[in-house]
Amino acid sequence: MLEIRFHGRGGTGSVLASRALTKAVFYAGKHAIAIPSFGAERRGALVLAFARIDDKKIYKRTQIYEPDIIVVLDDSLLELVDVVQGLKPEGIGVLNSPKKPEQIKLSSPTQVATVDATKIAKEFLVQPVVNSAMLGALIRSSEFITFEDLEKGIMSVFGTRLGNRMAKMNVEAARIAYDETVFGKTQGGGNNTKIRTWLPTVDELPIGTIIPKMKLESGQIIGPGAAVSRITGAWSNEKAHIDQDKCIQCLQCFFHCPEGTIHKEGDSVRVIKTYCKACGICINVCPVNAITLEEIKNYKDIIS
Ligand code: SF4
Ligand code: SF4
Repeated sequence: MLEIRFHGRGGTGSVLASRALTKAVFYAGKHAIAIPSFGAERRGALVLAFARIDDKKIYKRTQIYEPDIIVVLDDSLLELVDVVQGLKPEGIGVLNSPKKPEQIKLSSPTQVATVDATKIAKEFLVQPVVNSAMLGALIRSSEFITFEDLEKGIMSVFGTRLGNRMAKMNVEAARIAYDETVFGKTQGGGNNTKIRTWLPTVDELPIGTIIPKMKLESGQIIGPGAAVSRITGAWSNEKAHIDQDKCIQCLQCFFHCPEGTIHKEGDSVRVIKTYCKACGICINVCPVNAITLEEIKNYKDIIS
């Protein structure tokens, strides 16, 4: 599996880039998944996006901590964030920078591909939105799909969002970046960790996350464990059903169910219908298609 982490700024297209990439990978006949990471950020804030690519179906939905490739869309991030953190020893960084690789200082010497995507974007798109150019550099640096597949991905995703004319201009920006990408190794010893990874101590946690479980005058329960009184099963008239003959008890559904309503009961895996909101996530991750949605005729059956 190939794992890619995008470092960008809010509103500058790193999420759109990861979507266009995954679409292109589908056109190449492989599997891909794009995972944007949103907070309460505004335009310009540091954002991450992730993409996984494989020849077989992908079940992993976590953020990527040890990528094979990092893509940095804004070169000012190179001084702010330790972008190569966790990069595999044989991994590569794809950097938007006017500098040659040996002129760049990262926290450790790193194999990189660089391209001046900002200059290309300004010339071809009249604005410094570098996502398509960086996709061109990314494909050039690892060749996991062809440029023709990337072109189809950009036309599909950018075309839907920005129209056909803009999509073609973005393909052109990607093509120029593909041709102009250069390879080399950066210097190490850079002190680019001014912004730390978000690992809060207990003192830094927002107060709402550490309040005790309590019952309000209205009867509403708040705090940890309160979810048990929220009957999410009443949100839908369908419920997940596991075919026990097909189930191989891999527990993928257990790990992915957002309501924590799948559990092991003796020798079988079951769904507590009181909390199943029929989101369908378990159906999507089950490798043997053992789960279907069944209509609930009588709500008393699920909330009693
Ligand atoms: S994902 Fe499918 S096979 Fe795995 S435990 Fe759930 S129902 Fe069974
Ligand atoms: S449909 Fe959604 S809520 Fe219901 S069991 Fe599956 S993952 Fe959980």
